Amino acid sequence: MSLLPKLAPWLQRAFEQASSALAAGHFGHAVLITGPRFIGKRLLAETLAQRVLCSAPHAAGLACGTCRSCRLFQARAQLDSPELRPEGRLVHPWGRSSHPDLNLIGHGWNEKARPPKMRTEIVIEQIRELSEKLVLTAQLGGAQVVILDPAEAVNWAAWNAVLKTLEEPQPGRYLWLLAADPARLPATIRSRCQRLDVRPPGRDESIHWLCQHGHAAVDAADALDAARGNPGLAAAWLEGDGMVLRRSVRDDAQALERACEAADLVAQRWTVDGRADERLWHLAELARQRMADLTDPATARTLVGRFDTANRARDLLRTTVRPDLVVHEALLAWRGITDRR
Ligand SMILES: [Zn+2]
Repeated sequence: MSLLPKLAPWLQRAFEQASSALAAGHFGHAVLITGPRFIGKRLLAETLAQRVLCSAPHAAGLACGTCRSCRLFQARAQLDSPELRPEGRLVHPWGRSSHPDLNLIGHGWNEKARPPKMRTEIVIEQIRELSEKLVLTAQLGGAQVVILDPAEAVNWAAWNAVLKTLEEPQPGRYLWLLAADPARLPATIRSRCQRLDVRPPGRDESIHWLCQHGHAAVDAADALDAARGNPGLAAAWLEGDGMVLRRSVRDDAQALERACEAADLVAQRWTVDGRADERLWHLAELARQRMADLTDPATARTLVGRFDTANRARDLLRTTVRPDLVVHEALLAWRGITDRR
């Protein structure tokens, strides 16, 4: 009996790799699971957690599906994997773990704010609470698993507390850090973790998988190219409104180039619904794709500038700078310069 959604083939390969390392006793207590957003890191980590916590795993590396631990997973089995949900959220819609020895740490709520707000960072209180729990024996007498996702959201004070946990490894205790952009994690953390990279598969396999999920081949190919070959992201866009958003970004960029739109008005429109980061990602991609078959050096420079400015703006969105000002700055790079392509 499968309790979690079936793994996509590229996740299945990563699972088998991790599972055989576990069986051979080579799977470290701290593992950094990396891969682009929506590739399925979270689903992989939860499937591995079920395997680690299962009291009678099959020889093939799968959880048994019937022990008490596996049954506790069942409560979460009804949920979609957050990684495969449509875009449009800044944060994971975190559910609570239904297993006492599986700890999920993500964006928490700031209860002191009025009204309570979802935090953009993972804070030290969350790590302290976790450490207090981890000193107790596993409630089911087996392993304990912590999934920290997204690890990029952990703030500096909290990293120091995580570091303490890493420096005191305990048998049967696993800490998995999930990151799309591991370069943003402190080097002291990265150096203490084993790494499991989840890479997008080849184009044919991706399109086949998207078609199996009910998408027309032409739409699948279109979304896959837009998602830089990441089938999980392409699926999220096809199932949500990601491709519509992408087209609207392209239309706005073209209107700016033709000087038919004012950058400040577009910036306001791009920031009202909390999806500025997604739009900037599409904007950067638009510049990158135009660069692909370009020979004119002057236009190439303009496009590199647009690509860099959009990516810098995405970084700035994580700071306290006003989002509409950040987006406005990125849009100015598109204003009124005739594309000579
Ligand atoms: Zn089991």
